[in-house]
Amino acid sequence: MAALAYYPELHDQIILIEEDPNMTGLTMMAQPEKSTKNFLAEKRTYKIYVNSNTEKERALDFHKMPEDVKIGWFAHELGHLSEYTQRGNTSLVFMGLNYLISKSFKRSVEHYADEITIARGAGRLLLSGSQMSFDHASEKARKRIFNIYYLPEELEPFILEYEKACSK
Ligand SMILES: [Zn+2]
Repeated sequence: MAALAYYPELHDQIILIEEDPNMTGLTMMAQPEKSTKNFLAEKRTYKIYVNSNTEKERALDFHKMPEDVKIGWFAHELGHLSEYTQRGNTSLVFMGLNYLISKSFKRSVEHYADEITIARGAGRLLLSGSQMSFDHASEKARKRIFNIYYLPEELEPFILEYEKACSK
């Protein structure tokens, strides 16, 4: 997974990638494996789900995406994992519940994953994917998606700031 190169701290984590035909709306999703055993284990297992059902809701077909978009999206998911690894079990469960019930919390979690991705240097790749989903989405879907996620034009200033800091 090329995106792992941006997250050296995740190299010793257990990350499984799974196709999920039952996913709705989303293209990808990262979670700790949902089992008591996993939360009791010395080392948690994390899963990145890839939507393999593109018929429903006209989700983007991950397998047909250009390589840079794939890496950018994986980098966003790894951004989530990087945050999860910093949290204890109680905090993770609390986070999961909050994510489901609060739109503003969900937004802050997604914004944070994008910000980590940019800070790690994968911002341009992320932007390609963001632009692609913006272009692909219907007017209605756009409203729903970008109520939670940064718009491409909102990502750009963060990326420019990162690049400016790097060129110093
Ligand atoms: Zn996300």
